[in-house]
This record gives sequence, structure tokens and C-alpha cells, in this order.
Amino acid sequence: MSTTSEADIAHLFHPYTNLVRHPETGPMVIVRGQGVRVFDEAGKDYIEGLAGLWCTALGWGEERLVEAAAKQMRQLPFYHLFSSKTHEPATRLAERLASMAPIPDARVLFACSGSESNDTAIKLIWYRNNALGKPEKKKIIARERAYHGVTVATASLTGLPVNQRGFDVPIDRILHTGNPHYWRCANPGETEENFASRRAEELEKLILAEGPDTVAAFFAEPVMGAGGVIVPPATYFDKIQAVLKKYDVLLVADEVITGFGRTGQMFGSQTFGLKPDMMTVAKGLSSGYLPISALIVAGHVYDDVKAQSGEIGVFGHGFTYGGHPVSAAVALETLDIYAERDILGHVARIAPVLQQGLRALQQHPLVGEARGIGLIGALELVADKEGRKAFDPKLAVGARVVAKAQEHGVILRAMGDAVAFAPPLIISEDEIGQLLGRFRAALDEAHGELVSAGIV
Ligand code: PMP
Repeated sequence: MSTTSEADIAHLFHPYTNLVRHPETGPMVIVRGQGVRVFDEAGKDYIEGLAGLWCTALGWGEERLVEAAAKQMRQLPFYHLFSSKTHEPATRLAERLASMAPIPDARVLFACSGSESNDTAIKLIWYRNNALGKPEKKKIIARERAYHGVTVATASLTGLPVNQRGFDVPIDRILHTGNPHYWRCANPGETEENFASRRAEELEKLILAEGPDTVAAFFAEPVMGAGGVIVPPATYFDKIQAVLKKYDVLLVADEVITGFGRTGQMFGSQTFGLKPDMMTVAKGLSSGYLPISALIVAGHVYDDVKAQSGEIGVFGHGFTYGGHPVSAAVALETLDIYAERDILGHVARIAPVLQQGLRALQQHPLVGEARGIGLIGALELVADKEGRKAFDPKLAVGARVVAKAQEHGVILRAMGDAVAFAPPLIISEDEIGQLLGRFRAALDEAHGELVSAGIV
């Protein structure tokens, strides 16, 4: 029999992987996890600095989620929500999310991934404006460096070249405006507030240039995640929302990463004062244990959609596994655990340890900016600190540092030369110390190698 690695190299088509190099470097086989750590085939432990893919908020080995899944599997392993059918887990989860979300008279439509929920949001926006007799009002604005998924429509919203190049996206009617990365994009001497005003003015100009009657919605992650962990500057969302309101443009908050405590409040919308018409959640909803996502829409949006579906006959959208009973049962248990263990209180206590630790690393010769909020952050690696000069992307410095960190027993992700941190929310102060200690050793070693190679 072949080894896992051999079978992988022979048959597995890896997402987000260098497919040419993969057969040479081989896969990293993870066999189990406990708490904030995962273990490879050789038994080596790694602190998961990104909670898998920003999702495993409760860490690994949470028996209550295992039990919730097993119990639901025995009771009702599958049923759907089409044609007025329902079941207890999806119903109770919808009720719970509607009560938690900062959205008036919320309705909850389930899917299985962040991409599917954002894709569904796009379809609803179009469907609704057809219902309202505004068939021209269909354009959707996202931001450069945004990440909203990889389906045809959501990869179009995503503002990252790697997700678009070669894939024949973006599709029509999707537009991008500048991102709110103050450190990278502000003009010399520009304050955060002035930079925020400039971004809001740019948005207004774009809406006016396209024609307000053609612009339907604006998508935003409260903190941009895969684009490099970009925390909005002071006053940014207030100013952006004033523009959206002026031109009757809906706000969709993509809370796939920021939902359920990551930024210190239950939703990033609450941390940054967003008043969204729709919100998407996934990842932390089930702590990543099973696939489930939700699109939460305001009552007024639902009513418009309802009217349109009445004319057509049925609301002709839905996924076989949307609101899957086992995923929903695990999500309900996850939300119970967040409440019982006061995960928000824990994040409030522990976040300063991570944030101060990252800020302390700003003294390191390779680090240009340390940024973050709550339990999400990033370090931007630069060739020249004073001039904020980026490395040549071909040097892949971010990837090198992350590879070094892996040798030192911490798994992180590089977005270009930004190294992201988003550990499980259950991480302890001690474990944050270990994470940063291992990372610091890796960074020093990477720096030494860059100096030896004459790169810095
Ligand atoms: N939105 C955001 C903000 C995300 O971070 C992600 C995934 N990283 C998605 C959407 C897409 O989610 P999925 O991978 O579950 O489709």
C-alpha cells in the first residue's frame, strides 16, 4: 500500500497550492489536534496560529461538538429545507442567529461555505432589484484586496490577482474601489480621518461615474482577512456608510472571519459600527468542525424577495446541504459553548497579549507594520522600514518566513509579505507567548539568511 504522501502526490488536486512544486516538496500530513495544537505524522506539534483557515475558534478536540454531531447523526442525519420541510437544528439555529445579528427582523438562509453565502447574497441583490422594478440597479462594489470567495461571482468580488488571473473573472457588473490600508495607502502627512474621507470620496465618485441608479450594493469585510488583515482607520465605515445611504446602496458585511468574537465583539460590524442590510457568516459558526454558513438578511430585504418569489412561484434557490442538520446541531453547540465560556470576555482579556506581542515585533528589522485587533493581526515584512519599501515579490519573503515558522513549530499564513495571526479564540496567555516565541526565533533565522544572501 502506498503512503499517504505518495497517494496524495499521485491523486490529490490541491487547492491554493503550487502544483508544480508540490510533488517535490510533498504534502504536510496532519493526523490529529488537541487544543491550539496539531500534530504531524512524526508526532511533531505545531501551534495553529491561524486556527486552520481562520475557523477553528474552539481549537481541536472539543468533545462536546463531537457528541452533538454523533447525537444528531443518530436522530436525523439528513433532511433538507426545500418545499417547506424543516427540522429542529436549522430552525433553532436560525432563531439564534436572528437574535444575535445586528440586523433588524433578520431572516437566515443557510449554505455550506462563505463563498456560497456571498454568492447567494449577490443573487438576492439582483433578484430583489428586479422585484423592485429597478433592473438597471445591479452593479456591486467590493474593495481591492477583498476576499469574498472563489465561485464565479464571488471570485469576481474578491480583489486579489491570484484568484482572478487565468480564471476569466471578474464578470460584468462587479467593481472595485480602494482598500482602507492606512499604513500602505495614505499620502504623506495624511491623518487616518483624512485618509478615510478620501476613500469615501473615491467611493462616491465611482458611484456617480457609474450612475447611482446602476449601483446596488457594497461588500465589505469589517477587517479584511486574506487581503492581509487590514483594520479600517478611524471614521472609515461611518463615512462609507453615509455615501451608501445617500445613493440607496445596500451594505453587505462579510463576517466570515470576523463573526463570533474574532475582533472582540460578537460581530465585526459591532466593533466598527456597521449597520449592514445583509451579513454572511461561516467558519466560527461551527468552529470549523463541519461545513455550514449563513446569509442573514434584514426583514425589509426578505419582504421584497418574498414578493418577487410570489410572482415567480417559488424562491428558486437553495443547496442540498444548506442547513444540514448535523452541521446545524454542531453550530448550535458551538454557540452554546461561546456563551457558557464567555468567549468574548476571554478575547477581551487575552487580545492585548497578542496585540502587544505583535507591536513589540515591530522593532524587528524585517517588520514594517504590526497591525490587528482582538485575536487577529498581521506583520508586514519590508525590505526597508523607514521607506516602507516592499520586497521584490519574487523573493517570496513572506512564504520563506512562514516556512521557517513551520520548522519552529508554528503554522501561519503569508498573504504576500504580510504574515497573518488568528489563533483559536480559546488560546491562553501562555500559549500566545509560545506562539510568538517560536515565531520570533523563525523571524531571526530568516533575517540571518536574508542578510547572508545580501538581500537585506
Ligand atoms: N469571505 C471571507 C471574509 C473569507 O475569509 C472567506 C474564506 N477565507 C470566504 C468568504 C470564503 O469562504 P469559503 O472558503 O468557506 O468559501
